[in-house]
Amino acid sequence: MDFLRPDTLAEALALKAQRPDAVPIAGGTDVMVELNFDHRRPAALLDLTRIAELRSWDLVGGDGDGGNGDGGAVRIGSGVPYTRIIDELGDRLPGLAMASRTVGSPQIRNRGTVGGNLGAASPAGDTHPVLLAGDATVEAASTRGTRLIPATEFYLGVKRNALEPDELITAVHVPVTRAPQQFAKVGTRNAMVIAVCSFAVALHPARQRVGAAVGSAAPTPRRATAAEEFLSAELTSRNQWDSPKPLLDSVKRRFGELVSQAASPIDDVRGSAAYREHALSVLARRTLDWAWRDYCEKVA
Ligand SMILES: Cc1cc2nc3c(=O)[nH]c(=O)nc-3n(C[C@H](O)[C@H](O)[C@H](O)COP(=O)(O)OP(=O)(O)OC[C@H]3O[C@@H](n4cnc5c(N)ncnc54)[C@H](O)[C@@H]3O)c2cc1C
Repeated sequence: MDFLRPDTLAEALALKAQRPDAVPIAGGTDVMVELNFDHRRPAALLDLTRIAELRSWDLVGGDGDGGNGDGGAVRIGSGVPYTRIIDELGDRLPGLAMASRTVGSPQIRNRGTVGGNLGAASPAGDTHPVLLAGDATVEAASTRGTRLIPATEFYLGVKRNALEPDELITAVHVPVTRAPQQFAKVGTRNAMVIAVCSFAVALHPARQRVGAAVGSAAPTPRRATAAEEFLSAELTSRNQWDSPKPLLDSVKRRFGELVSQAASPIDDVRGSAAYREHALSVLARRTLDWAWRDYCEKVA
């Protein structure tokens, strides 16, 4: 197996163009498991860990605050580990920080990256529902140029994403917000666990919209579009964004039902399809309740 170690992004993209079969390795927390279990035997590994450009984050557009809805976005280099997202970006990207805190263990969070989560594109990856609900965009680059792929168009199938063979993920752009976001996952234990199912909700008051997405409950992570539309219309028609009041139980229940209907889960070792559907409706009601209470306090 060849081990390719570029020092710069330009070198990495040139190598990926020459060797599209080379498997990128960032934190290695997915790749090394696959190699160790002999699930994958690539002809070459493309080590991205020396590339400084992938290990930084910066603010793009907006005021970087998000209090008035135009906070711009944080462009997070694909090689920024979860620990730094939690420590450095928790106030601006609450949903992503929340999901990052649930990933693996301290060791995995020190090594593992959002770029790697996106590269693996597992339906159970914890950051995906948050990126979908929060309107994130994936930045992909090759020697042909750079393109931005909305998260909604990135996940194509089980462990399949929209990258071309010569492309690398260079960053993910996540809109800055001070509005409430929530992420929750069900696992078979409290930590170091792959999600049986997961759910993210993001309030977008400036656009009077709600984002909602499910994980580990369909071949890909996916948005719960009908639930988003129902709740957005409900909140807007009752003038709830400007004068928020506690949500009716019937609204929370309907939101939960629509979220579980967005899933198309399977029975597997981690849980049955029926359990996943039930758990998603509970997660959706509960996280919406937390997010909305938070919003009411902020506006009051
Ligand atoms: C013990 C353990 C616990 C875990 N717990 C969780 C968990 O709770 N939640 C969760 O979501 N995941 C979990 N994982 C999986 C893993 O940690 C995450 O998916 C992590 O985000 C992977 O990041 P990485 O940088 O280590 O990726 P790597 O292993 O380096 O790469 C993962 C995939 O992405 C590709 N890739 C990496 N970087 C790029 C790039 N820049 N461009 C294109 N492709 C790229 C690789 O080729 C590979 O296919 C766990 C793994 C282990 C071993």
